Amino acid sequence: MSLISDNLCDIRKKIEIAANKSGRSFEDILLLGVTKTVDVDRIKTLMDCGVKTLGENRVQELISKYEIIGDGAKWHLIGNLQTNKVKYIIDKVELIHSVDSIKLAEEIDKQAKKADRKVDVLVEVNIAGEISKHGVRPDEVFKFVENISKFDNIRTKGLMTVAPFVENSEENRKYFRQMRKIFVDIKSQNVDNIYMTYLSMGMTNDYEIAIEEGANIVRIGTGIFGERNYDIKK
Ligand SMILES: *Cc1c(COP(=O)(O)O)cnc(C)c1O
Repeated sequence: MSLISDNLCDIRKKIEIAANKSGRSFEDILLLGVTKTVDVDRIKTLMDCGVKTLGENRVQELISKYEIIGDGAKWHLIGNLQTNKVKYIIDKVELIHSVDSIKLAEEIDKQAKKADRKVDVLVEVNIAGEISKHGVRPDEVFKFVENISKFDNIRTKGLMTVAPFVENSEENRKYFRQMRKIFVDIKSQNVDNIYMTYLSMGMTNDYEIAIEEGANIVRIGTGIFGERNYDIKK
């Protein structure tokens, strides 16, 4: 219990310092609590500490936690999403961070139409061109965003990336800077139905640098809860 609130206190201070460095304030940054593999009791502790926006990377896990916690939290899907699973989460999520194919966007649009709602999404960018990672290539983001702007039931709210795993987080600064540049470039084009509002980047190891470079959503799991135990899935 106290571990979570102590960790959170420390993280919030660091978020504030990094935000100030980039000419912004603590309130400009959304701290997304990444709760994959974390049980509902610990999630409730986190919510009691004021973190009410949660990120899950697996559909099944999001749904089973949603059944217990419901709309008391806002749910973000941050992991790879298979088209056949879109229908299960379409009415539960506030934001999908991981749109990286037209096929997926089409399915989200279709299911959103059925549910009579508009769904907010981010486009995932594979900023370092890692083979192991999902995401649109940096040089194709603009074309991709233009292509999905035509879907009436999707609102593109920004960009997301998962930076490489590195020993020294400074190594990721260049990628965060590139993301920010793409973000600003797209914003300046004023494409209909494209709102460059959110730049989701930075995790436990590199969130301060991501914020310094312009992130306004950071996704933090380990820093809040400690190392994940993948044997416990609920
Ligand atoms: C797990 C995960 C995170 C959180 O990672 P930590 O290093 O535990 O903070 C952030 N983003 C995505 C997409 C993840 O899958």
